[in-house]
Amino acid sequence: MSYSQLDRPVQFLKGVGPKRAEAFPKLGITTARDLLYHLPRRYDDASTVEPIGRLEVGMDGSAIGRVRSKGVIPTRRGLRIFQAVLEDDSGIITVAWPGQPWLDRKLRKGDVLLVTGKVRFFHGRQIQPREFTVLERASSAGPAEQAGIDRAEPGLVFVTYPATEELPQWVLRGIFEKNLDALLGWADDDEYLSDEVRARLDLPGLGEALTLLHRPADIRDPERGRRRLAFDELLFLQLVQARARRHATEMEPGIAHERTNELVRPLHEALPFELTGAQARALREIYSDMQSERRMNRMLQGDVGSGKTAVAVFAMLLAVEGGRQAALMAPTEILAEQHARGIRELVEPIDVDVRLLTGRLGARERREALEALASGSAPIVVGTHALIQEGVEYDALGLVVVDEQHRFGVKQRMALLERDDARPDVLVMSATPIPRSLAMALYGDLDISVLDEMPPGRTPVVTAVRDPDAREAVHAFIREQVREGRQAYVVYPLVDESEKIDLLSAKQEYERLRAGPLADVRVGLLHGQLAGEEKDRVMRAFAAGAIDVLVATTVIEVGIDVPNATVMVIEHAERFGLSQLHQLRGRVGRGRAAGHCILVADPGEDARERLEVFRSTTDGFEIAAADLRIRGQGDLFGSRQHGKDAMLRFADLMVDDDLLIVAQRDARALVTRDPELERPEHARIRAHLSARYRDRLALYGVG
Ligand code: ADP
Ligand code: MG
Repeated sequence: MSYSQLDRPVQFLKGVGPKRAEAFPKLGITTARDLLYHLPRRYDDASTVEPIGRLEVGMDGSAIGRVRSKGVIPTRRGLRIFQAVLEDDSGIITVAWPGQPWLDRKLRKGDVLLVTGKVRFFHGRQIQPREFTVLERASSAGPAEQAGIDRAEPGLVFVTYPATEELPQWVLRGIFEKNLDALLGWADDDEYLSDEVRARLDLPGLGEALTLLHRPADIRDPERGRRRLAFDELLFLQLVQARARRHATEMEPGIAHERTNELVRPLHEALPFELTGAQARALREIYSDMQSERRMNRMLQGDVGSGKTAVAVFAMLLAVEGGRQAALMAPTEILAEQHARGIRELVEPIDVDVRLLTGRLGARERREALEALASGSAPIVVGTHALIQEGVEYDALGLVVVDEQHRFGVKQRMALLERDDARPDVLVMSATPIPRSLAMALYGDLDISVLDEMPPGRTPVVTAVRDPDAREAVHAFIREQVREGRQAYVVYPLVDESEKIDLLSAKQEYERLRAGPLADVRVGLLHGQLAGEEKDRVMRAFAAGAIDVLVATTVIEVGIDVPNATVMVIEHAERFGLSQLHQLRGRVGRGRAAGHCILVADPGEDARERLEVFRSTTDGFEIAAADLRIRGQGDLFGSRQHGKDAMLRFADLMVDDDLLIVAQRDARALVTRDPELERPEHARIRAHLSARYRDRLALYGVG
């Protein structure tokens, strides 16, 4: 790309200089472009800024005025209050900052402030600002000859930038005043969208978008500008993922599985149930991928119990009837064993061999299993990740299914695709329902099938929220269920008691329950600090019914499937995210008997409202959407979600899903047309991608 002025270091801009340049990196700014993309964090509509004379007691408003006098006022109770008197052409008002005497050193007579807050009556009209900004700095010479305040022209909007101690608001404003014309003039150097594409999406050009954000004429302008930057961000992320997708699926041919219906049809006829509409749809998508030469890299998303395993079994049979082998990997050995049992049951009528390969096999059994895989005499194998990691050889591996894929990161997912002996199709299953937009953003390199329909005849789990002082009744309920032959979980957020937080912990409560309320039943303890073998032993004992009540931390979220367990008690439920609660609730109600989920939570907090959302629905997608709304997308992208490093700085997945869909489609089409982005018209995109998205490209192994 031709060199742009925007690539110049920020210190060459007017009013910056070497000293201030040192303060910029803290704001994530090193180049002129960074400064241009340093956008206001707040907009105040000038039409809501009142002339000071018109501020009335009781009003919640904003005002702009010059500091006429100021000082610290001590009170009888030792509190020191900083006060300033602001004036404009229409009048004066007192502004008070209790407990902030240090502001006296920060603010000068003659400074112009924007203050926002409630007007009260206290020796006259007074504002205690929620927020304030120094719009203009008095010269150090003092306020002697101040011109009138440059008050809002009609339609003007005041902007407030993210600032720091070293680069306060008024300094930033000064720097923008001197440079913004030039910066905005260079903005279109980066433009990579054609007029036609922009018109189609109704998005402004870069220069215009940034003008709308820095110098809005109307309070609605910034949103229009933001949408443009949001689209850019989504498009570039999707480009990274589209390249990963191409790398995984198209660069070299995969397997075109042959469908003979030799196994798939008999299984359909033998199944004791009809597939749900969602299962049938997912299978059509999977079959179509598998039969094509293009390698499949697909995610099957669906709540616990939505029938993912059944879908996976059909996919595996398609591979087998076409002469290949299929492997299913579970996150734990116990789950692998359970899967093997369940799959054997399903395919029993059509007589297909299902091998189990885990660390528990004896040496001889293991050798036999490995030989069967290498010779091709074992068509289906179930195990843990060891199945593909430890040099297990296959005669003709055609499909790999990964269960509970959310436990594995992008890296592991990519490693899975890097076998050099074969290019098996890949189906990853996830029981963590997430809104479609989030799935597209996180897993843009995959194709996605969703099971959004539950098989009929399931009794939904009944959920109740209880106060801590109802615990006795909860324990009585557990005892009653155990008497009826059922089992229960009691989950705590902590392993050990902590001095700092007054929470019940698994270890201590295990001792207490065992000695008291649950003395007459068999209680077990499970948490992440136990040695692997011990964990395994406890889970097996619970699965076998040798333990009635399992006291645990969230380690049970994945890794165990016990249809006889009917009660899930979650202590300090307010501590858990909704999606996590949903995973825990999914552990019960898996058998014929009705399931009960009891949330024990302190009353009177916001949390109760959250828990009420959870109580009122069992739809995982609805819960995930609520979680996204409540917690925000930041949490869901992990830790690097702040400032310039944030994966999504401008886009909001809850509102920009329309842009996301277009971004994914366009990105995929672009990578198909011009995989290396070599065409001259794509030069800017390529430059931007390698300059800004190097880390992400490397993460996906396509750097
Ligand atoms: P998941 O893997 O999504 O948690 P499973 O595939 O294990 O769900 O299915 C849960 C239970 O529902 C199993 O007992 C399975 O046999 C049964 N099942 C699956 N699909 C259907 C269906 N279409 N109708 C009735 N029962 C089904
Ligand atoms: Mg499952």
